[in-house]
Order: sequence, then C-alpha cells, then structure tokens
Amino acid sequence: MCELHEPTTPAVGRRTLIRGAGGLLLGGGLVATTATAAQAATSQNGWPAGSTSAIPVSGLSVGAATFPAGVRSGDVHTVLGYVARRFDNEVEALVKGWCWGHSYRVISGSTSLSNHSSGTAIDINAPRHPLGASGTFSSTQRSHIRSILSACDGVVRWGGDYSGRKDEMHFEINVRPGDARLAALARRIGGRGGAPTPTPIAWTTVRRGANGFRTTAIQHLLRQRGYSLTVDGSFGAITESRVISFQRSRGLVADGIVGPRTWTALVVTVQRGSQGQAVVAAQKLLTHRGYSLTADGVFGSMTATKTQAFQQSRGLTADGIVGPRTWAKLTA
Ligand SMILES: [Zn+2]
Repeated sequence: MCELHEPTTPAVGRRTLIRGAGGLLLGGGLVATTATAAQAATSQNGWPAGSTSAIPVSGLSVGAATFPAGVRSGDVHTVLGYVARRFDNEVEALVKGWCWGHSYRVISGSTSLSNHSSGTAIDINAPRHPLGASGTFSSTQRSHIRSILSACDGVVRWGGDYSGRKDEMHFEINVRPGDARLAALARRIGGRGGAPTPTPIAWTTVRRGANGFRTTAIQHLLRQRGYSLTVDGSFGAITESRVISFQRSRGLVADGIVGPRTWTALVVTVQRGSQGQAVVAAQKLLTHRGYSLTADGVFGSMTATKTQAFQQSRGLTADGIVGPRTWAKLTA
C-alpha cells in the first residue's frame, strides 16, 4: 500500500510515477487517485477512513523521525508507536524524512482504501525498504522484527509477510475496531490513549576531551554502526568527527557531543545470541561495573546472567536484555 505516498494530489486516472518517501521512485506505472466519498468508507482492515480532519489522528515521533500525517489516536497510536520505537532500537535507527503515517488514498481500480487512509499503518525507512523488494533486511534484523510482531500477538501485520507483493517498510493494524486484543496489547505495553510512553531515560553526556569507559563504549558502538576508528577510550578529534557523521546520518544536531538523543540513536539493543561491537561495549561496561566478563563480542549465557545481576542492582527489569535503559545505567 505504500505507493500511496505521493505528497501532492496526482490527477485522477492519470498514469503517473509515484514518488515514495524521501523522493525515491518506488515503482512506475502505478496509478493513484484521491479517495472520494463514493468509495469505501473503511480501509482494508475495517477501520473508518478519512482525512485528518475527519478521523482522530495524532502526531507520532521517534527521535528525530516523524510519521506525517500522524497515526490514529488511541490504542492504535500506542501500538504503532511501540512498533516504531522497538524497530528504532532493535532493527534499524529511524531516519528523519523516511517514515510515513496517515495518507488518504486509494489505488485506482480498487475499491479498498489503504490502511494508511484510516491512520492504522506506518512505513519505516521507506527508501531502504522499497515496495516490491524483498530481502531488504538482514537475518538478524528479520529476527528482531519477528520478536516485535510476536510481542504484538497478531495485532500487527508486517508488509514483508504479504503473500503477494512484499512491502517491507510497512506495518499495519491487523484487527478490526473494537477487537479486544488491540486494547489488551495497548494496556500491556503501557499506553494511555495515544500519549507517548514517558519516563525519560537519564543519559550521561560525553564530549571531546573525555577519557574512559564511556568513550570506549561510544567507540565500539560507532564501529558497530559502520564507522572506522580505533578504540582507545580517548574522545579526540577522530571520535568527534565520527560522532558528527553519525549525527548527520540520523538527522540529529551535528555537534559531536553524545547527549541523550545521540545516545538513543547510537545504542543497539543486544541480548542472548547477539554478536559484534555493541556486545563488546556491553561486556566491557559490565566488567567496569564489577560484573566481570570476557569481552569476546558474543552474547552468551554468562553475559545474560551478568546483565540480569546488573539490572537487579539498579532496579531495572531483569530480563538480561541490554536495551536503552540498561545502556543508560551502564554508561551513567
Ligand atoms: Zn505502507
């Protein structure tokens, strides 16, 4: 359904190249028309469709990324926000300008309105996961997507699971209005009628001139993100320039200072089975905190056990998963 993101109204019935998010051409020859009152009043998943003045829609943002023109208020907002935040933390950082929410459109020749028309679908990092392409995620990323979907108990469907044309950027509500599973899920993940889940995480700001365990972690995380630099625990000019490059790539203020937003974008959630530089960072931090580990970059049972012990000591949920809250405590 993600050909429906032409930001201006194309002429009805005219063949047109459809512009996707971020200006990428997602595919030629698709024809979009604006929806009219004569057409279905509900989107494919059975939710009332309409313009943002006709249906309740609230803005959604994750870090610097927003989902124009928002998503449906209430439990849908809670659930899609949860998916987007977990995607950002576990699968791939959301890129500003590459994510989309409500859009009131139909496909020509079809009577069904896209689920975007009811504000019950989102697209994430569209140019990286274009409509029709499959295999745009690594197997690790796919397993994290599976984990998010399974936490959603069938309430959310991923476009990568479509039987026909794949749509890997796309996530949508897969139950009808009033379905008790949606309300139960929204309650479980802590939403309250579309309010973003607050409780801000306290991060320690790190900048040029810093030395020690925080800088070491930042350097490993930058390496995890594909930036090349030496891990020496010393925040000098090279580290600063890598931070600036990373910030630019995420649409953050490119000041070279690792503050809350940069930390949030930089950390990678790691857990049993994870491997790589982010795991090395977590292992060194745990060791620094007195939970001694070999920094081998392989998150096995020992790392999980030490993570749980650390989490318990700090009053965190002792799930053995190093997510944002645990990263923040490890680097406090
Ligand atoms: Zn979509």
